[in-house]
Amino acid sequence: MTATFASFYDAANGDFEAVDGEPLPLQRARRLRRRRQTLATAAASHLINIGLLAMFVAAGTISIALVAAYAVCATCKVAIFVAASESGRTDDWQDHFVAGPYTAATCAMMLAFIYAAPAVAVVFLCAFFLIANVIAFRAPPLRGALACALMTAGVVAVYTLAELPITLPAASMLERASTLMVFAATLGRIMFINMFATRIRDSLYRRSAALETAYKRIEELAEADELTGALNRRSIMKLLDDEVVDYRLTAKSCTVALIDLDNFKQVNDRFGHLTGDEVLRTFAISIFANIRATDKFGRFGGEEFLLVLPDTDHDRGTRMLDRLRAIVEDLDWSALSDGMTVTISAGVAALRPNETCESVLARADLALYAAKNRGRNRIAVA
Ligand code: GH3
Ligand code: MG
Ligand code: MG
Repeated sequence: MTATFASFYDAANGDFEAVDGEPLPLQRARRLRRRRQTLATAAASHLINIGLLAMFVAAGTISIALVAAYAVCATCKVAIFVAASESGRTDDWQDHFVAGPYTAATCAMMLAFIYAAPAVAVVFLCAFFLIANVIAFRAPPLRGALACALMTAGVVAVYTLAELPITLPAASMLERASTLMVFAATLGRIMFINMFATRIRDSLYRRSAALETAYKRIEELAEADELTGALNRRSIMKLLDDEVVDYRLTAKSCTVALIDLDNFKQVNDRFGHLTGDEVLRTFAISIFANIRATDKFGRFGGEEFLLVLPDTDHDRGTRMLDRLRAIVEDLDWSALSDGMTVTISAGVAALRPNETCESVLARADLALYAAKNRGRNRIAVA
């Protein structure tokens, strides 16, 4: 169901899967799932920090009380945000992740622990790298820059005002190992955040590429005649209009031709309407296969088609039309139905200075009429 909606990245709401026209219950369920995922990741990151602090306890750098304090603070913080998220109350907020307050709470907690346990400040300092990565991925640039400035100011304030010594614990092998583990765990988490961001970006890119293709297809369908795949009347008339304007500006030659299938009523009567449709399709395909990419071919109505030949003067246009006439005549129509033959007649008119669409079409129509009168399966020139 969701696949029918176009999704996009709603940066203001941190909603990287925002979906246009998504029903509210589906949107709520999707957002809740994402919040749970995000909070679980945050909790896992805190658990990693607890593990790192436990290593420093084993190394004798800090007391177990500090780890306990950290665990209590982290649990309380995550629990409050889980409760807010599960209650659904934040769902209508612009920032339904409550990312701003959550980040502020985490920063405050880290600064407090840098102050309380300067010996293992490295653990809490590294947290700021993680926070900066998450901000860079989620927040709009201005808000992100402001958050980074505030984080830096916070760290500077704690260090200068409290005059704490910056230390990397390295007194024993276990302390060294623990410090290195802090770096390894930080790098690992940064990698995780960035890989996640890349995955989201990739999927967004793929989605927008698929959307673009779909829009193109819709545009093509809106311009095409359903039965024959030629341009529909509106589109071919619009292109003819453009050519007329172009002719006035550049005086480049342009020739138009009205093509009509001969005695098509008899084809329908004799072989059936469905076969008649097949004849129209086959005719259109053979025209497409034998015109230039710049030529425009559309269904004018019924079994009458309009061919616009840019950059083509009167003589060349007539020759092209006669070639197309011969191609249609020579097609093996009996492959569609035994004994079938199909021919076309066309009226050709080259654009004249200051001529309108209507008048060039009227001249082509007169020429077509003359071609029919002269016995069909021929080209007549206006
Ligand atoms: P002429 O050589 O003078 O053009 O004779 P004609 O029989 O081709 O012309 P007429 O205008 O008498 O008949 C056109 C026929 O084309 C009648 C109509 O049923 C048929 N026709 C128009 N559109 C379609 C279509 O989409 N499918 C089919 N099968 N027939 C169509
Ligand atoms: Mg006809
Ligand atoms: Mg006709």
